[in-house]
Amino acid sequence: MQAFFGLTVTGQLDSHTLEIMRTPRCGVPDVGQYGYTLPGWGRHNLTYRIVNYTPDMARADVDEAIQSGLEVWSRVTPLTFTKTFKGVADIMIAFRTRVHGRCPRYFDGPLGVLGHAFPPGLGLGGDTHFDEDENWTKDGAGFSLFLVAAHEFGHALGLSHSNDQTALMFPNYVSLDPNKYPLSQDDINGIQSIYGSLPKTSAKPKEATVPHACDPYLTFDAITTFRREVMFFKGMCGGFTTISRTLNLN
Ligand SMILES: [Zn+2]
Ligand SMILES: [Zn+2]
Repeated sequence: MQAFFGLTVTGQLDSHTLEIMRTPRCGVPDVGQYGYTLPGWGRHNLTYRIVNYTPDMARADVDEAIQSGLEVWSRVTPLTFTKTFKGVADIMIAFRTRVHGRCPRYFDGPLGVLGHAFPPGLGLGGDTHFDEDENWTKDGAGFSLFLVAAHEFGHALGLSHSNDQTALMFPNYVSLDPNKYPLSQDDINGIQSIYGSLPKTSAKPKEATVPHACDPYLTFDAITTFRREVMFFKGMCGGFTTISRTLNLN
């Protein structure tokens, strides 16, 4: 365990090791080397269902956190996620406590383990559980449901933990700015090794032509060429508003 977290391997429980062990984290065991990935789902169109809701947050905020957590991964792959409301979905999402249902894993009350998810497959495969004994929040004043969900969905898609401390797939909870795109290059390489990158035909503008390319949340609703310029539009309140300067293509 010390080796995984980049600590000096002593085999002893020193204070630094204890500190890392106490840090709120994911309940998926650290097995194997990073870079090893499971086969994935073998398809790109997946379904998800929110089986129950946490009382900690408004339902709409839970919906949004879950959807955003999935979009973190669909943004860099050909994956699509469709929400369903009954029956069995690929990714069944639930808030549970302690020993729960037929799940072979359990939760530990407040702090400690925050969530767990199962790798792609039938039955429990892809299913993602959050510890209801945590205080889930929209903005990370407790634990950010968005960030923990995005991490757990990495497992549900076939990723194991990363020992890169900047990776979303690092097992410990790190509070990040929820408005920033949470994937590191390590995460992107991992997910693209399973599902490939975005198709070349994607309508998304290439980096070099995006005015604020450093903001990965920037999306455009329409792109048009006007004379020799490319214009990007974003829909706002019933009309299109140009949100960025036009680019000259000469
Ligand atoms: Zn994990
Ligand atoms: Zn479970």
